[in-house]
Amino acid sequence: MPHKKYHKKPEKQVRIAKARIKFLFDEAKESFRKDSKLSDKYIKLARRIAMRYKLRLPSELKKRICKNCHKFLVPGINCRVRIHKHRIIYFCMSCRHYMRYPVK
Ligand SMILES: [Zn+2]
Repeated sequence: MPHKKYHKKPEKQVRIAKARIKFLFDEAKESFRKDSKLSDKYIKLARRIAMRYKLRLPSELKKRICKNCHKFLVPGINCRVRIHKHRIIYFCMSCRHYMRYPVK
């Protein structure tokens, strides 16, 4: 892990922050069908926590957020997922932004 030397938050706090982020993503998934705006709110909060603690969001969670409009993405509902030339392409239907990720 880089930047280990300076500005390290206590491990316990980091653990709590990570748990909160995961919880917020679960809540976002849960509430999406009822109220997608609520999902976006949860995601916003999760991103804020990640930033505050300088945590990187796990890639599977990162892919669920539009890089452009920061909305919570649900494949088949507000985003399209396609595989093209060894890349996964996510297309956000709200802002029409494309995101590309290499296939592992
Ligand atoms: Zn978007």
